[in-house]
Amino acid sequence: MTILDTARKILNEGLICDHCLGRQFAKLSTGLSNDQRGKALKLVLAMEAGAQKDETLQEKLAKSAGKCWVCNNLFEHLDSWAQKTITALSDYEYENFLVGTKVTGLLAENEEIVWAESGTTFAEPLKTELNREVGKRVEKLTGKRANLKKPQIVALLDLENDNVGLEVNSLYIYGRYRKLVRGIPQTRWPCRECGGKGCERCGNTGKMYQESVDELIKPHLITAARCEDTAFHGAGREDIDALMLGEGRPFVVEAKKPHIRKIDLDTLESGINNKAEGKIEVLGLKFVESETVEQLKSMKANKVYRLKIEHSTTEEKLKSSLDIISGTLIKQNTPTRVLHRRANLERVRKVHSTELESFDTNTAVLVIDCEGGLYVKELVSGDNGRTVPSVAALLGCGAKVIELEVIKVG
Ligand SMILES: [Zn+2]
Ligand SMILES: [Zn+2]
Repeated sequence: MTILDTARKILNEGLICDHCLGRQFAKLSTGLSNDQRGKALKLVLAMEAGAQKDETLQEKLAKSAGKCWVCNNLFEHLDSWAQKTITALSDYEYENFLVGTKVTGLLAENEEIVWAESGTTFAEPLKTELNREVGKRVEKLTGKRANLKKPQIVALLDLENDNVGLEVNSLYIYGRYRKLVRGIPQTRWPCRECGGKGCERCGNTGKMYQESVDELIKPHLITAARCEDTAFHGAGREDIDALMLGEGRPFVVEAKKPHIRKIDLDTLESGINNKAEGKIEVLGLKFVESETVEQLKSMKANKVYRLKIEHSTTEEKLKSSLDIISGTLIKQNTPTRVLHRRANLERVRKVHSTELESFDTNTAVLVIDCEGGLYVKELVSGDNGRTVPSVAALLGCGAKVIELEVIKVG
């Protein structure tokens, strides 16, 4: 069937607008919009009808008023949809956006009928055209760019309810944090007694610990981004009683549904640090893409720990045990202390180097540089033979960590 035959068949179904006719051949020529394509087809058909004295078709083509049976004249309202979109977006800061459409059942059905006539080989869906046409208008009116791959905001045209909904994508900020006091978890830790509802034990806060790194950052970002909520993603975590020193631990904090995206990160950084009063410190804040969260989670960074241990051995013996552990692969079963919330797995992690920083009767300070994921407390204690080799086993006497600091991540 020729293109004109197909067009004639579609016209036989009833009055159709230039957009809807042209859209059935959208993939056939470039540089034209669907309505231009539809208009051209109608023009050729009108000339043909004149030549062949086909009065029925002439009449059909002459009729310009009335409703398009496919779209109900939806395309006459492109400007109004663009305006509605801009109004919906007006309270948000954005550089780029995307228009999407929620089509009604009726329109979808009409489209199925045209496709049955014309075939779908050259056709484009109604919503693709609508999204593009409204998008072009929004671009023109706002000066912002449509972005198909990673829009900051998706404006969803809801044809049924005649309104525009928004999907506001998160804003991601990368940084590193230092934890300068002990007893602060990385993220909010629900009360063990009440599970977060609030009880006597937690003073109705629902929390095991009153502060966390996450919560010391959150209110500042909520104010700066005017966002609904935040999510904290750390590159691993240190124990609650461990310090995080040195360059700090990498993290990404996510602002959910932000109204503001152009945040002054220096101000945010100093705001967080001033309010945290030396408990934590954030540094090196910068904007990143969402993928950074995944990269952060899968990062097998090396860690350097400084630990204070308790022992009952001599400096010489401790030194030689540490020498044995340097450069060695350590086999660890999941530590007893976390077995209640993690599966029992055997893992192998390398200790790159060790150093005895200071030695006293019964205590000593070690620096251990190892692969991420090594349970360093168990490396010292041996965890009843669940970690092999261990400092305690090599010494042949008990040894345990009494203070822990992370001094480098990555
Ligand atoms: Zn139409
Ligand atoms: Zn509680």
